[in-house]
Amino acid sequence: MSLTGEPLLDVKNLKKYYKDSSFSLFKNDHSVVKAVDDVSFTIAKGETFGLVGESGSGKSTIGRSVLRLTDITDGAVIYKGKNIYQQSKSELRENRKNFQFVFQDPFSSLNPRIRIGDAIGEALLDHGIASKSEIRQKVLEIMDVCGLAPYHIDRFPHEFSGGQRQRIGIARAIIMEPDFIVADEPVSALDVSIQAQIINLFIDLQEKKHLTYLFISHDLSVVEHIASKVGVLYLGSIMEMGSRNQVFDNPLHPYTQALLSAVPIPDPTIKRQRILLKGDIPNPATPPSGCKFHTRCPWAIEKCKEIAPELKETEPNHFVACHLV
Ligand code: ADP
Ligand code: MG
Repeated sequence: MSLTGEPLLDVKNLKKYYKDSSFSLFKNDHSVVKAVDDVSFTIAKGETFGLVGESGSGKSTIGRSVLRLTDITDGAVIYKGKNIYQQSKSELRENRKNFQFVFQDPFSSLNPRIRIGDAIGEALLDHGIASKSEIRQKVLEIMDVCGLAPYHIDRFPHEFSGGQRQRIGIARAIIMEPDFIVADEPVSALDVSIQAQIINLFIDLQEKKHLTYLFISHDLSVVEHIASKVGVLYLGSIMEMGSRNQVFDNPLHPYTQALLSAVPIPDPTIKRQRILLKGDIPNPATPPSGCKFHTRCPWAIEKCKEIAPELKETEPNHFVACHLV
């Protein structure tokens, strides 16, 4: 998990704005939600970039944007040196094999009447890559790698537990032998004991198959286990970004510090001082002026209300957007 390898994915000044539909009462108010507001990051080959932030901070929008599952407002997504938003349909189709998505709830994307062996092999069949018997062989092989027993192949989705369903979701993604996987809250619906098993499966597969991940979670303790690099998102902007150790051992942004202070430490002899944030997340259609975080920041000064801080490199590869750092 190197931090210095060549970038597989380079996200440059990504912006995704939505017309705010929740304001339908005020028909003339064409307010805009800046779901992703000028976000840049790179992911090196074989690395896991953990994207964390509260609900509504723009994580899923970034996840969909980097796979071109949505249009973007501005910016670029460079994959292996090519801007995927400038690729032709056929180039994109070729790329689709290399990109895969793992969802929070794989059950919703599984047809209840399709046996899971067929569901796992579906994409191979669609791409016309292999014959039916070759596909069955490949499905059994991938099921084994993902911790599913061979007799599961002819069962239906409802016969599986949450953890097993996520194994099926992962099997569907990796059967295409992708280079890059976006996993959007893949363990958030699971019991904590099962979460660890699925995270270990992701780590295991990464080593075996040389995968690169964008791993999205609202839960810092999940990201801490898997990510080599971390980005902390607040209202569509990255507040802090760095290696896992930089962000977890030396958090510099008050928002990161507050999020971390809420994570329980397994060692009962160590106590973290809990930093309580004031108020709730602001309405993303009307974000605060200056630093978007100033309304909840315990340390905010006058300047924070007026001027948005830039994301600055404070030590090699450690970036923070805060006037006080
Ligand atoms: P997260 O995954 O971090 O919870 P999302 O990317 O889902 O955040 O959402 C970011 C913001 O964009 C939220 O304010 C959300 O309401 C808004 N949003 C997301 N999808 C749409 C959409 N299709 N239309 C309008 N607004 C959207
Ligand atoms: Mg989401």
